[in-house]
Amino acid sequence: PYRLGPEIVDWDEQRAEYFAKNPHMKTTQSGRPRVLLITGSQSDPCKGQSGDHFLLKSIKNKIDYTRMHDIDIYYNMVLFQPEMDDVWIKLPLVRKLMLANPEAEWIWWMDSDAMFTDMTFQMPFERYENHNMIIHGWEHKVFGEKDWCGLNAGVFLLRNSQWTLDFLDLWARLGVKRGANRKQVGDLFTSALSGRPNFDADDQSGLVYLFNTFRNEIYPKVYLESSYYLHGFWVILSENYEEYMKKNKPGTGDERWPFVTHFVGCKTCSGSYGDYAASRCLTQMERAFNFADNQVLEHYGFRHNSLTDSAIVRTRNDTKRPLDSLPEAKI
Ligand code: UDP
Ligand code: MN
Repeated sequence: PYRLGPEIVDWDEQRAEYFAKNPHMKTTQSGRPRVLLITGSQSDPCKGQSGDHFLLKSIKNKIDYTRMHDIDIYYNMVLFQPEMDDVWIKLPLVRKLMLANPEAEWIWWMDSDAMFTDMTFQMPFERYENHNMIIHGWEHKVFGEKDWCGLNAGVFLLRNSQWTLDFLDLWARLGVKRGANRKQVGDLFTSALSGRPNFDADDQSGLVYLFNTFRNEIYPKVYLESSYYLHGFWVILSENYEEYMKKNKPGTGDERWPFVTHFVGCKTCSGSYGDYAASRCLTQMERAFNFADNQVLEHYGFRHNSLTDSAIVRTRNDTKRPLDSLPEAKI
C-alpha cells in the first residue's frame, strides 16, 4: 500500500535513543513538552488583491503566539510530495518535520486561514497524556451523525510517535492523487458520511471516515476536544469580539474568549472568497487580527483604536521604571 516514506517500525526506540544522548532536549526550559507549530501557504503569489497581506498578518499572529508560549514554528511554501497536494499537503509535511525534529513531542498543524485569538490561553497538555491526536470536534457528530463537519481538520496536534507514523500512512491512502483515486474516494465519503456535497476526497472527511471505520483501533488514542475553541468557526465568533472584551478576559479559550478563529469558507488568497462575500471575509479577518494584536500590544502599552483600525492609542504612559509594569506573561 501507499506510504508517505520508507516504512519505519521502531520510531519510538529511535527517538528514545536520541533522548538518551540528548536528555536536555526532553522539555523546554519551563518544563513543558516541546511543541512545533507548522503552517504554510502555496509557493505562488495570491491572485486575490489582499491575499498575501492577510497571509502576512496570519503569520505575524502565529509568530506572536508561539513566541509568548515557547513554541517553535515552521512555515512551509513547497510541496514535498506532488501526489499529496492541496489540503493533503499537511500529511507529508507533518511526517517530515516530525522525523527531523525528534525533540518535539507534539507537531501542531494550523491552517493559514486560522488565527490565535486568545493569546494567553495555554494548551492543557496534561489532559492528553494518553492520547496521540488532539482535534476539535464532537463525538455525537462524528459517530452519531457521521457528519463530515463533526470535526475540523484545519487545526490538530499529533504526538511524535510510531502511532502517528502509522496513522499518517493510513490517512494518506485516502488522499493520494493517483489515477481516479481521489474522485472515487470522494464518492465513498459522500455516501458514507452525512451532509457532504460530492467532491474529491478531502482530509477532513478522511478523518471522520477512519475514526468510524477503525473506532476500536484508532479512536482510543484520539482526543476530540470541544471544551475550548482549538478550532472556532469565525461566523459564530468574530462579530462578538467587542462583547468578549466588555464582559470577559482572555485566558479561557472558550465561548468567553475563543482560542482560535478559523476562516473556513473564505478563500482570500484565490480571490474568489468561496462561500461568503469578499467584504465580509476581509472585514472579519481584519477584526480577528486586531482583536489578537491588542493582546500583544498591551505589553507595550498600546491598543488598536477599534477592531477595524490599524491605528493605535496609548493605554499607559511610559515610565522611568519600565520593569514595574511588566506583565506576568513572557513576551
Ligand atoms: N495549503 C498550503 N499550500 C497549498 C494549499 C493549501 O500550504 O498549496 C494549506 C494552507 O495553510 C491552507 C490549508 O492548507 O490554509 C487548508 O486550506 P483551506 O484553509 O483553504 O481549507 P478550508 O479550511 O477552507 O477547508
Ligand atoms: Mn482553513
